[in-house]
Amino acid sequence: MLKTDVLIIGGGLAGLSAGLALEGKRDYLIAERENRPGGLAATIKKGGYHFDYSGHLLHLRWPETTKLILDALKGNVRRIKRDARVYAHGRWTQYPFQANLVGMPDKVKAECVSGFLKAWRLEGTAAENGGEVFTRWTRRVFGDGISRHFMLPYNAKLWQYPLSRLTTEWCAPFVPVPKPEDVIAGAYGTGQTALGYNAVFHYPREGGIGALPNAFARRLRGLRLGLEVESVDLGNGVAMVRHFGPVHFKRLINTSPLPSLVAMSEDAPAEVRRAAARLRHNSVYVLNLGVSRAATPMHWGYFPGKEFPFYRAGIATNFSPALAPRGRSAFYIETAVSGGALDLASAQAGILRGLTACGLIRSVRQAEESLWMKIPCAYVVYNRERAEALPRIFSWLKARKAFSIGRYGSWKYSFMEESVKEGLSAAGDILRGR
Ligand SMILES: Cc1cc2nc3c(=O)[nH]c(=O)nc-3n(C[C@H](O)[C@H](O)[C@H](O)COP(=O)(O)OP(=O)(O)OC[C@H]3O[C@@H](n4cnc5c(N)ncnc54)[C@H](O)[C@@H]3O)c2cc1C
Repeated sequence: MLKTDVLIIGGGLAGLSAGLALEGKRDYLIAERENRPGGLAATIKKGGYHFDYSGHLLHLRWPETTKLILDALKGNVRRIKRDARVYAHGRWTQYPFQANLVGMPDKVKAECVSGFLKAWRLEGTAAENGGEVFTRWTRRVFGDGISRHFMLPYNAKLWQYPLSRLTTEWCAPFVPVPKPEDVIAGAYGTGQTALGYNAVFHYPREGGIGALPNAFARRLRGLRLGLEVESVDLGNGVAMVRHFGPVHFKRLINTSPLPSLVAMSEDAPAEVRRAAARLRHNSVYVLNLGVSRAATPMHWGYFPGKEFPFYRAGIATNFSPALAPRGRSAFYIETAVSGGALDLASAQAGILRGLTACGLIRSVRQAEESLWMKIPCAYVVYNRERAEALPRIFSWLKARKAFSIGRYGSWKYSFMEESVKEGLSAAGDILRGR
């Protein structure tokens, strides 16, 4: 029977970061069910290409985590200015749409600008209000035109959930809200491309985003791959690990999806199970393509139009040429579903048609390699049920002195740096006896 002070479920960035903070200070075990570390930040090699689980770009905001990440990459990193675009009404314009209407037809531009100014005049402020639903929030903040031509169709495709029930606590960092002068300049002048959380990003020069978790993993003596935690008894501090048996622990850090933790917890009360059963998420299918050289320098594009089955498509070799053999480009194309399976053959045909229609490739024959990746739990849905369920689940976990962290452990819309921060913070709390 194995004993450890701290059992960490999951070797994604959150779990690995917790391990880094405990290394040499406290006995710990990271149980990762896959045969590689990194979770969603892993990179898969196929046919000379390196493919991520869609674009995984580093948005660095906090000094401690920035230093940890850049030090781990040891110079294998570039700082890159975003070149993101939107394809709508048969043409490209820069991202964000709301501040770059210059590329749109005159009628669309006029509708968007006048709608924005009307909304601004009525509300006088574009402040975020987390309690509102998305349909009302976007019309209040951006007006009818921008909502109709981008915000509503794009977010419907991404979330795969009724936008009249989607709440807006997630919007503040992810949806840039321009000032009226930015909207007008973006429509009739030069455009405003530096808005938003990802205007500048970091990415490894070589090896894909997987270079980061691999660098963390090399420093961890307590990481065990191929170990799946099947059940947990928080009261008695015992976990059952598939093909391995019981592991006794004093403290638990979970990074697997919150509903999975509740489902595998033998001592979760009925009230907590009911709360977890109300949590919702979408799934994302990523088609990675290896194609003979793409002609555009763009990093990625957003597709609000119904004629495109995907919501976003990117060209990873435009931020890291080493991801493909010389003269080739690596694409990633993301399609969201609310549940159920995508018919991959017809989805791939639709994607290739879409990439040709918008000019990202000239011919479907350019695609010489492909790899589908499924992200079963991709974006957690923000709704009233989530707001009610989380306090119940977390007060039960707090009473058991257990942590549930990371994008899915804490059940939120966050990015890699935040998972790293939460891993360090949970481990720090344990070291301080909290
Ligand atoms: C489509 C998409 C695009 C994204 N793009 C970006 C981006 O550009 N920039 C950015 O910063 N972030 C991005 N993210 C978010 C980023 O992927 C996450 O924030 C981060 O990787 C989450 O790390 P984590 O450790 O919290 O979770 P995960 O990466 O999900 O790691 C959890 C780990 O737990 C393991 N596990 C689960 N259950 C068990 C079990 N029972 N036993 C053992 N192991 C288990 C899993 O195998 C996994 O390895 C994106 C996410 C998606 C879905």
